[in-house]
Amino acid sequence: MAAAPVSTGRFAPSPTGAMHLGNARTALLAWLHSRRAGGRHLLRFEDLDVGRVRDWAYDCTRRDLEWLGLDWDEEFTQSGRTELYADALARLDTYPCTCTRREVLAAIQESAGAPHGEEPVYPGTCRSGSVNPQRPAARRWRVPDQESYVQDAGTRAVLCQNLRRDVGDFVLQRSDGAYAYHLAVVVDDALTGVTNVVRGADLWTATPRQVALQRALGYSTPQYFHVPLMTDYAGHRLAKRGGAPSVRDLREGGEKPERVLARLGQSLGWTIPAEVTAAELLETFALQPGLLPFPITTAH
Ligand code: GLU
Ligand code: ZN
Repeated sequence: MAAAPVSTGRFAPSPTGAMHLGNARTALLAWLHSRRAGGRHLLRFEDLDVGRVRDWAYDCTRRDLEWLGLDWDEEFTQSGRTELYADALARLDTYPCTCTRREVLAAIQESAGAPHGEEPVYPGTCRSGSVNPQRPAARRWRVPDQESYVQDAGTRAVLCQNLRRDVGDFVLQRSDGAYAYHLAVVVDDALTGVTNVVRGADLWTATPRQVALQRALGYSTPQYFHVPLMTDYAGHRLAKRGGAPSVRDLREGGEKPERVLARLGQSLGWTIPAEVTAAELLETFALQPGLLPFPITTAH
């Protein structure tokens, strides 16, 4: 029997700007989970969308995390791992697609009327041959016509999607050559031994796609813990554009990291002092594990 994998978690920011408090709260929860489980914790920069990446954001993120007392054991950068994504892509049943977004929307209107759901379901226009082979092509995955099922290990919520019906063949490589987030995340989580994923609830509905990719590539599925996004008083999601102070602003403005950590914890309803260190939070959860929005898992 193979040895049980080392419990491994990760924080996977996109280096597109300064971290806002919502990112920091997810980073804190992922770190608490990894460290409570006594396992490894990885930092992975998701920087495949070159147009949005800011060179200064890598270092800014590292400093923000260090300032908060959230350490990591190994660091990865997706832009340095594209050969791995190419290998995985070659193992999947994909086809070239030259449709523009506008063409996809028009095709949906013609066939089935208005798109249902949030994201338009690609109607398979290029499935048996690209319509405009002279254009640069994206590569879409011919998704299996079966249910993809996931249960969140924290909330116990269940999501079941038939990818063919609910999502459609989705893009794994853009026409400019960039690998898509879903492919990179699945390859990286598997090849770096990630067993626990703590991430924002905005990615919950993408999870069945990632689980289906794991199955097709022969990877095991980690445990998923989707944590609530931080919102402002009006209930809007905190975003970099929203004018809320970034962690860097607070750090450079002379704020104490202990106060920021306390605010993050209080925003989750925890009863904690007005100033706490990350190490003290870790201690608190050793005594009261029920405070975390998920159970700690050591074995897989
Ligand atoms: N890079 C993604 C983000 O910053 C997170 C991806 C993930 O955790 O799977 O929202
Ligand atoms: Zn197409």
